[in-house]
Amino acid sequence: MTTIDQRRRQVVILAAFISLLLIFAADALSPIDGAVAVLYTGVVLMVAPLGRRFILAAGYISAVLTATAFLWGHANDLVSGALLRFAVSLVAILITVLLSLRDRSARVTLAEQGRILELSHDTVVIRDPSGVVRYWNEGAARLYGWTRGEAIGRQCDDLLQGIVPVEEINQSLRRTGAWSGEIVRTRRDGTPLVLATRWLQRRDPEGRPIGVIETSADLTERRRAQAEQRRSEHRFSTIFNSGGFAALECDLSGAMRLVLAAGTGEELAPAVRAYPQLLDKAADEIRIYNANTAALVMFEAETTADLSSGKVLRGSKQDTGWALETIFTQLAAGAMLVETEARFATLSGQPIDAVLRLSVLPDGVDWSRVLLMAFDVTERNRARAKIEQTSVELAHAGRVSVLGQLAASIAHEVNQPLAAIINYGKSGKRWLTRAEPDLVEVADCLDKIVSNGNRAADVVGRVRSLARKSAPQAGPVDLAALVQDAAALLARETRSAGTAIRIDQNGRLPQVECDRVQVQQVVVNLMMNALQATRGAGSSSEIRVSLDGTADDAIVVAVRDSGTGIAGDPHRIFDPFFSTKPDGMGLGLSICKTIIEAQGGSISASNNVGPGATVAFTLPRKASAEAAGARRLIS
Ligand code: ADP
Repeated sequence: MTTIDQRRRQVVILAAFISLLLIFAADALSPIDGAVAVLYTGVVLMVAPLGRRFILAAGYISAVLTATAFLWGHANDLVSGALLRFAVSLVAILITVLLSLRDRSARVTLAEQGRILELSHDTVVIRDPSGVVRYWNEGAARLYGWTRGEAIGRQCDDLLQGIVPVEEINQSLRRTGAWSGEIVRTRRDGTPLVLATRWLQRRDPEGRPIGVIETSADLTERRRAQAEQRRSEHRFSTIFNSGGFAALECDLSGAMRLVLAAGTGEELAPAVRAYPQLLDKAADEIRIYNANTAALVMFEAETTADLSSGKVLRGSKQDTGWALETIFTQLAAGAMLVETEARFATLSGQPIDAVLRLSVLPDGVDWSRVLLMAFDVTERNRARAKIEQTSVELAHAGRVSVLGQLAASIAHEVNQPLAAIINYGKSGKRWLTRAEPDLVEVADCLDKIVSNGNRAADVVGRVRSLARKSAPQAGPVDLAALVQDAAALLARETRSAGTAIRIDQNGRLPQVECDRVQVQQVVVNLMMNALQATRGAGSSSEIRVSLDGTADDAIVVAVRDSGTGIAGDPHRIFDPFFSTKPDGMGLGLSICKTIIEAQGGSISASNNVGPGATVAFTLPRKASAEAAGARRLIS
């Protein structure tokens, strides 16, 4: 309560007190023969605004004073007119007290209602029949920008212009006494507002219209948000339908529940692998509720309903496992985006390869809204398979070409042990046909025959393994033995070039995971080139093949010669069809490069500081998954 209110209260109390004294004095002491005590009702009315307690106190004191004055002046005259006046006065005081109490409680109720209106966030505006504002709550002041002081007494339509269906509202007010709907009003600063409004007709006790109560809630923000949502949904559906790639909206929540029941965290993947039927059941639980035209075309479906069960996403097993297994385990681990490749069957059973990209949409974190985009890579994979096939054939052709160049040497390598076998056979026979056969010599001849037979078989075996046209196979390979074999294959070439191949080993050489035949093809190619360059330079210096196992991650094989050196840019020698030889094809090193890179290694060439060149390649100690993929490419 403010100080001014307190002061006013004190003044009222003082005035009431003085009035009580004056009325009592007039009643008790003056000779006036009237119902002076009725004046006490004025005191009750005076203190009525101060509250219930004051009304009761004023009434009580008035009654006591009236009685006192009556007894004082008329104690001996109880049946005269004075008694009647006394009774009338008491009744008047009582009625005034009761009416004041009722009026007080009505005021309290009204004040509370007024406070409630103030608390409301909505606007409340009360107008009289001529449209003049009579009440304007805080909400109205906040929203419309006019203060209560500015608004009250002004024409409502002057303050709040806008689009209001006046005719329709008036009709409804006449008919039902109320109207509700959406209107547009303009704020003080000119901003338009969309309002959800309710109008109520006010009537007096006789039923005559005395104005309108208008309450409104601001819908501007909601409408703007709805419009933005519509625009964003429109954008999404435009991208969804005309993005040119297959897009499906799926509900994976049921499938995920099933999968998570089998295990969580690190247990999940083994659980799924141990129970493959789980993927079938989970695929059944996938719901596809929206599919764009590209998706329908991809799966050869007519409508989304044809795809509604996610069975179509079951797919078949790939080198990398089941696509659904990857998807479920990654989603379970909290991934919001999963990418994987899968092979599906269309509804008519045609196989399709697709790269899948699953994104969990923000309003579907329980996996109930997942956007699945599928890029058809069937054609790409077919083309890739063709390239792989061509690469195999090219690599094989390269090997056959090398063997063709070595034909004379190979024939010689086989011929030598054969000639030896024949000679040892003849001399064995001679030792046998002597008068006294020398069995020890015969046995020695037979041993020589066997060892020469083995030598010839080794040569044939090496040639066969290089000539073989088989699917590439990665396995543990002893690189030192592989290099020895390659050198043996070129033994005669080396001799006729008047040189030698020296093999050095530095560090421990573990077995390397690679394709033996292809790597041997590379080593033979590099040795052949080195021999040709050595011969071309008229040099007789030896060719050094070094195997270096000292690096942590790779084994390095380098073939160093003292030949002509590489003419021009050394990197160019790996380009297809680059050759400086009159009868050269220029494909050998380009095939070598493809082979080595497919094994996860690299190949390079450089001229030596002295004469000749060095061509070196690396092979990783451990085959990586990437290299395994690349190996598939070359193979
Ligand atoms: P080709 O042997 O049919 O020419 P390659 O791809 O094996 O095809 O070699 C391409 C070219 O690289 C050769 O013609 C040669 O000019 C050059 N070259 C390769 N190895 C050496 C080397 N050790 N010394 C000098 N030049 C080399």
